[in-house]
Amino acid sequence: MSKYVPGMLTCKEIDGFLYDFHENQLSYIECLKFKLHLSMCKECKNYVRKYENIIRISQGEFTNTESAKKVPEDLIKAILKSRKKK
Ligand SMILES: [Zn+2]
Repeated sequence: MSKYVPGMLTCKEIDGFLYDFHENQLSYIECLKFKLHLSMCKECKNYVRKYENIIRISQGEFTNTESAKKVPEDLIKAILKSRKKK
């Protein structure tokens, strides 16, 4: 009659659990519930996949900005040098 499964998370709860799941902050039971929902809900499965892609991309950008930290210093020096030329 009802699609509701006792103990099963709603899509909204999955959204709230996603960060904790990714950070391994969920309890064993919560993790099981999370995975159970994903196995039954295509939308959330896709949502998690997208989330993980975004994480990967943002981590890539993060390392880029880490290495880019050196650039502004050189840039400032270059600007100062070009100013002195005047
Ligand atoms: Zn769902």
